[in-house]
Amino acid sequence: MSIFGLLLGFLAGATAWTLTEYGLHRGYGHKGGSKNPFTVEHLAHHTDIMYFAPGWKKFGAAFLVLGITGPLLYLATGIYGIAASLGFALTYLTYEFIHKRLHTHGPKTRYGRWARRHHLYHHYKRPNLNHGVTTPIWDAVFGTLEVPPKIVVPRKKALPWMLNEEGEMRAEYAEDFELHSPRVAN
Ligand SMILES: [Zn+2]
Ligand SMILES: [Zn+2]
Repeated sequence: MSIFGLLLGFLAGATAWTLTEYGLHRGYGHKGGSKNPFTVEHLAHHTDIMYFAPGWKKFGAAFLVLGITGPLLYLATGIYGIAASLGFALTYLTYEFIHKRLHTHGPKTRYGRWARRHHLYHHYKRPNLNHGVTTPIWDAVFGTLEVPPKIVVPRKKALPWMLNEEGEMRAEYAEDFELHSPRVAN
């Protein structure tokens, strides 16, 4: 058993998840008329930007996939297959955490700012672009990457972290986002 091999297996699994993240989203996330549960949940997330599929559904699906592929990979490549399964599972969980966080909290790091612009552009403007959530790599590879200009946010779809007490865009995010219409004073 080699540590290098284990690391390589883990990285292969992690990379496989990022490709799965891209492929699922691009291939099934926006398939009009599809009854596929992934499509249904994803379109619900687009309709209500604060809606996330219940955890048990997502983790259930993840464990089902790993329950099947893990033993197969183990049989094929031994302990390295387990490392790959672990890389896949942990990167998937990280993705779930990051995706939710993009919607619920404002950015604190350069990566956080990039990820919000990249993903929220997909939500607010171009659902056929920027399918990767945690990385732009596969969007770049498959030609669906667009670096957004300032993103226009419909007022009723604004995320809670974007707004100040007056319900206007917080100054620190005004470079990246602007509300669609100024509030009408009454
Ligand atoms: Zn989202
Ligand atoms: Zn989408």
